[in-house]
Amino acid sequence: MTNDEQPPGDAVSPEGGGTSDELSCEEAARNVFEYLDGELPPDRSEKVHRHVEMCRRCYPYFNFERAFLDYVHDRGMRPARSAELEERLNRLLKDLEEREP
Ligand SMILES: [Zn+2]
Repeated sequence: MTNDEQPPGDAVSPEGGGTSDELSCEEAARNVFEYLDGELPPDRSEKVHRHVEMCRRCYPYFNFERAFLDYVHDRGMRPARSAELEERLNRLLKDLEEREP
């Protein structure tokens, strides 16, 4: 175990410092399960959708998640937020942070 505890309020740095209307990659990634599951409120869902459409970094990841959920729904299973998916998400978030200019 290393000594790298994160503070609870893990600061999100807004990308481009633009309007607060746009989601950051991190926010979009955090909402990916709810978005694909149709559990987000419409306005939030819209923002996630817009971000993914524009963001080349997020797009492949969302595509993967969508394919996974399609597969799950196809088999009549309830998509469980498995530990494996959570781990993938965490890895993506780390990856995004490392690629920040
Ligand atoms: Zn993004």
